[in-house]
Amino acid sequence: MKHRNAHEVIVVGGGAAGLMQAGLLSDHGFDVALVAPNDVEVNAQGPWRARTVALTPSSVALLDQLGFDWEHWRHCRYRTVGIEDADAPVRLRFSAAELGHDFLGVLIELQLLNAGLAKCVYARGLPVYRYPAFHLHADRRLELGDGTVLEGQLLIATDGAQSWLRQQTDIHQSILDYGQSALVAVVETNRPHQARAWQKFSDGYPLAFLPLGNAESCAYAVVWSLPTPRAQALLQSSPAAFLLVLQRHMADELGQAVAVYDQELYPLVARHALRYYDGNVVLVGDSAHTIHPLAGQGLNLGLTDIRVLVEELMRARRRGLSLQHSSVLGRYQRRRRGDNALMQGSMTILQRLMAEHQPLWSIVRGQGWAWIERQPWLKGWMAEWAVR
Ligand SMILES: Cc1cc2nc3c(=O)[nH]c(=O)nc-3n(C[C@H](O)[C@H](O)[C@H](O)COP(=O)(O)OP(=O)(O)OC[C@H]3O[C@@H](n4cnc5c(N)ncnc54)[C@H](O)[C@@H]3O)c2cc1C
Repeated sequence: MKHRNAHEVIVVGGGAAGLMQAGLLSDHGFDVALVAPNDVEVNAQGPWRARTVALTPSSVALLDQLGFDWEHWRHCRYRTVGIEDADAPVRLRFSAAELGHDFLGVLIELQLLNAGLAKCVYARGLPVYRYPAFHLHADRRLELGDGTVLEGQLLIATDGAQSWLRQQTDIHQSILDYGQSALVAVVETNRPHQARAWQKFSDGYPLAFLPLGNAESCAYAVVWSLPTPRAQALLQSSPAAFLLVLQRHMADELGQAVAVYDQELYPLVARHALRYYDGNVVLVGDSAHTIHPLAGQGLNLGLTDIRVLVEELMRARRRGLSLQHSSVLGRYQRRRRGDNALMQGSMTILQRLMAEHQPLWSIVRGQGWAWIERQPWLKGWMAEWAVR
């Protein structure tokens, strides 16, 4: 055993969720340490990267609270979203102006988000341990890869979808394999994107064009969720063949696709922890839930978990309760698990409805889109729900 250190809260995992959680707790006066074995050095001016996240205005506000330096990290504040269904002659269009917002969301490359968050959080001077969590002792002391032993009143798992920390507890999860993979790629076109995001259900599968950089940029992060064999075949095709297939599914207004790079595949699996805590271990972000990227909500849900957990821990402190008290963590679970289950279920139902190919169903679906387009209140409600 090398060192033995005690902290009030230990956050395990240095992705966006872990960095955010540690930073906010530190700002609220908690003695917090972060276990972050990953290196977040990136070239902020390098080529575009396809792995991006769309953040809602609420998530952006949380990043602002932490002091995220938007000037330094390139991103796109998109103002309109178009949704099309290849099987129905209807197009839904949501715009920030209609809702009275400045923007509908922010699109940022995940590695830049993580690097920017790391810069913010490390500047606070909180202890950061660079070796992975390796062994959870029966008395809940946490041992790291270099032999350091950490003691914490509360251990927060932010170590991702395959959470090592969750696996050390009795928490089980429901798992739904969609049999699909998200093929992500950077695609450049011959027309500036003007900060417009666009999604089309083509053969029932969602193809999203997410604008990268400022309004004059012609680059998009493309996320195409497809049955895994189809996604694999596309991944292995030449850039020219890939662009040819893509062009057939793109809207004319996007212009001509002229280049593609940084293609990667992500198998799509919905997971949900049956409980969010066990003793002094509590789950947030992907360690608790993963969902279909159809509506770009995974990290947004995780950031809401983080905000709510901070509120509950502050409440516990005001009431003189231990941070691991079951009433404290139970309240967090009650406030978050239902919401996350609802979003996860909605995405599963939506992707199944869209992937249904019966001709009669296509007609019903087309009528449904047309009806939604004619109901401004419903469109407004859908948009507010998506950007909250
Ligand atoms: C194709 C695709 C598109 C998506 N688009 C969107 C979107 O538009 N909007 C959105 O909100 N979400 C989106 N998501 C979801 C989003 O990317 C994730 O929810 C988010 O990145 C998860 O962040 P996290 O910090 O919880 O986990 P991770 O990013 O997985 O971070 C986990 C961290 O834990 C560390 N770790 C692992 N094991 C250990 C250990 N033993 N000890 C210590 N540390 C450890 C890892 O090194 C890693 O840094 C998308 C997902 C996919 C697949």
